Amino acid sequence: MKNKSIFELDPERLATTDEHGHRIYLYPEDVKGTWKTRRFLLYRLLILVYLVLPWFYINGKPALMINIFKREFTFFGSTLYGVEPVLFFFLLASGIFFVAFITSLFGRVWCGWACPQTVFIQSLFLKIEAFIEGKARQRRELDLAPWSLQKFFKRALKWGIFTLISLHIAHTFMGYFVGPRELFFITLHSPAENMGLFIATMIGTTIILLDFGWFREQFCIIACPYGRMQSVAMDENSLVVSYDAKRGEPRRGESGIQKTSEGDCINCYNCVKVCPTGIDIRRGTQLECIACTQCIDACDDIMTKLKKPKGLIRYSSENEINGIRRRVITKRSLIYVTLALVFISSFFYFLNASTNLNLVFLRDKVPFNVTEFDSKKIIVNHFTLKLTHQGSQDFKLDFLIKDLDVKDKISIVTPAHPAKIDTPEKKIVIFFKFDPSILNLGTRKVVVEAFDRISQQIVASKEVVLVGPVH
Ligand code: SF4
Ligand code: SF4
Repeated sequence: MKNKSIFELDPERLATTDEHGHRIYLYPEDVKGTWKTRRFLLYRLLILVYLVLPWFYINGKPALMINIFKREFTFFGSTLYGVEPVLFFFLLASGIFFVAFITSLFGRVWCGWACPQTVFIQSLFLKIEAFIEGKARQRRELDLAPWSLQKFFKRALKWGIFTLISLHIAHTFMGYFVGPRELFFITLHSPAENMGLFIATMIGTTIILLDFGWFREQFCIIACPYGRMQSVAMDENSLVVSYDAKRGEPRRGESGIQKTSEGDCINCYNCVKVCPTGIDIRRGTQLECIACTQCIDACDDIMTKLKKPKGLIRYSSENEINGIRRRVITKRSLIYVTLALVFISSFFYFLNASTNLNLVFLRDKVPFNVTEFDSKKIIVNHFTLKLTHQGSQDFKLDFLIKDLDVKDKISIVTPAHPAKIDTPEKKIVIFFKFDPSILNLGTRKVVVEAFDRISQQIVASKEVVLVGPVH
């Protein structure tokens, strides 16, 4: 009876699960080849983009920053202020359909070529692991070996370096949300001063460390929502990493001697040994395949040694492999690209159509003072008013109190009448002078409206709490 290769997979279960449902840890072997060279060139470029982009300033602003709390979106020097949820929805929906369009053409190409998890694991974490613990076989043996000083040292060194890299990635990731300069100054102070951000960064570091250092392909197989979506987006015309069964089968037996036919596959399992998700691509397109092309390089290497044409495993569509001409643009891909264009057009339409003037009243350090005018007591509240908008138009604003019962008892003072707003973001000083009788237990909520003299309409309103002494 033939010995079964450890790389021969059970057809009934996942490649990374044993008969008890426990995880089989993978030790993918390294590979050399044209596809790897191309991928690693892109990975290096992407690492630069992912890690350097948020530290890059254009027009005094970060190259990319998404401030969810302030609803501000900065992209290559331009900022959208007060972005409405509906605009976020249009942007998100167009992104999803664009990704679906790319998937329908090129399969799960994002996963193998650009996903940050793949990029960092392949070009940093696996490299460090191989440098410290050796090749795939040595790593497997180290895992199985009992604890020793050497094993402890290697593990401590590896996880120490992984932790430093994870800390750096998590901080950079935070830079996308709070801005790199702010983040840099925050890191110079005690964590207690920014506890929320500190906790978020530490949680991010832990997730990155465990995911990139240990969980790895399990995330792609079990948790990634895009992995689930790809089967819907793809069809028999999508370009995927495929095994040419017509050419390869019947394959040779495990002894390496070709017995019955002229199939090109020599059953060396090299395509399985290098696969980061542990699958055997000879079983056809599978959900676990991240299109990393490692198996193409591994098999091309064997074919070259056998003096046979490369491409037993190659980028191809199911139709092409079966001898049917591939249709590049299909109904499915047309629907996806149309929906992506509709949503992105809606985004820009609503962006330009809406004034989205946003008012933020920032109370000054001294909330109020009491003066006398015509021997009557007057309370004055001081604010800085931050006005932001994302349209291209200017405003000439008058500020009015909406509440009819107190309208005549409050006067609003700004340095200029009307206040001219000709930039996407502007701050002006604003005072509220009022009679103490409007206060109830020292406070009074009023609604302030901004009337635009250019468009002759109310373009924004905001509730403000006025304060004074409690009597
Ligand atoms: S690497 Fe090529 S020859 Fe070897 S098992 Fe895979 S498909 Fe067959
Ligand atoms: S089957 Fe090939 S392309 Fe797919 S994940 Fe494995 S090595 Fe990468």
